[in-house]
Amino acid sequence: MGTIVCQTCNSTIGHFEDEKVTTLYGKCTQCDHEEVDEQE
Ligand SMILES: [Zn+2]
Repeated sequence: MGTIVCQTCNSTIGHFEDEKVTTLYGKCTQCDHEEVDEQE
């Protein structure tokens, strides 16, 4: 099973079907609404 994790706050967004254990990074709805400044 694959897991989708928010790259901003590291919260689990959701899951998807996969043969292997996979982690994808995305944005949760909360962070998607916020303007995030990238810091070096
Ligand atoms: Zn988030």
